[in-house]
Amino acid sequence: MPLILFSAKSERWSIYESPLRAALQEVGLGDATLVTEAAPEDVDYIVYAPNSGLDDFTPYTRLKAVLNLWAGVEDVVGNETLTVPLARMVDAGLEEGMVEWVTGHVLRHHLGMDTHILGQDGIWRAEAPPLARDRAVTVLGMGELGASCAKALAALRFRVSGWSRSPKEVDGVTCHSGTEGLDAALSGAEIVVLLLPDTPATRNVMNARTLALPAKGAVIINPGRGPLIDDDALLAALDAGQIGHATLDVFRQEPLPPEHPFWAHPGVTVTPHIASETRPISASRVIAENIRRGEAGEPFLHLVDRKAGY
Ligand code: NAP
Repeated sequence: MPLILFSAKSERWSIYESPLRAALQEVGLGDATLVTEAAPEDVDYIVYAPNSGLDDFTPYTRLKAVLNLWAGVEDVVGNETLTVPLARMVDAGLEEGMVEWVTGHVLRHHLGMDTHILGQDGIWRAEAPPLARDRAVTVLGMGELGASCAKALAALRFRVSGWSRSPKEVDGVTCHSGTEGLDAALSGAEIVVLLLPDTPATRNVMNARTLALPAKGAVIINPGRGPLIDDDALLAALDAGQIGHATLDVFRQEPLPPEHPFWAHPGVTVTPHIASETRPISASRVIAENIRRGEAGEPFLHLVDRKAGY
């Protein structure tokens, strides 16, 4: 039976231990050893959070795979001591939470909720919002999370476009791909949602040039990763009115430092990296299934393409 090392911040163990044991039992690995400390040469699998403090995989000589607890792998993908397969987290619970967060924040801006919630100023603004069918929303990143959000928005009848590296076909979504597809995806968008991974190819994808492509006053919603946006270019676009609002969940430095201009800017909403998170019960099933596959000699699910960086 395999030895599985759980390597994450200590408070995560109390949240994950019982769902992981239950999920291992479900796949016939109830006798597996699941621990938070072990001699590295005895470890078969590492269930891994990149902020766990473990960053030298060299002593793990019998390691078969590293199973990331997070969807984002930018902090581990370039680790040269990691030579075994790396799987990222694809979790139905994480996805559900992201769809809810993105839909909520898109609807906030689409319906102009702030005017009525924050502006209780005695002015009777009797202007109904447009229908979703008349609102162009673009989702950059059409992977597990982006495609689900795009589908949910399309189901609400938004005019949705998507952008990914490889071509896609998604019902109700106009799909663009490749470097050459970016401008078409952004042009005229009124709300732009960023669900790309942080890789060398996606860093600063929203810069002075691309921030000028959406409709004037467009809203940027970023639950992807901080480095997708050139912060100074965004602040300039907000000050110029080209971008009407930015709702940001992720930042180059987290927690966002108190002195960062985003906190005080009237056109920015800061949320503290809470758009969604891995949910222990559903995520444990994904991890247990991957360990079962490893033990059965079957291909792992959700493998990271180390060259592409995600
Ligand atoms: P995913 O399934 O790997 O999807 C990534 C998408 O981005 C894919 O559609 C991919 O294109 C596209 N992409 C990557 N590089 C590109 C490029 N150079 N040009 C155009 N498109 C590119 O990832 P996911 O599970 O949806 O997660 C997306 C990101 O969300 C994660 O990496 C993480 O950073 C973030 N996240 C944030 C939170 C939060 O709470 N804020 C929680 C979870 C995840 P292909 O489809 O062609 O490969």
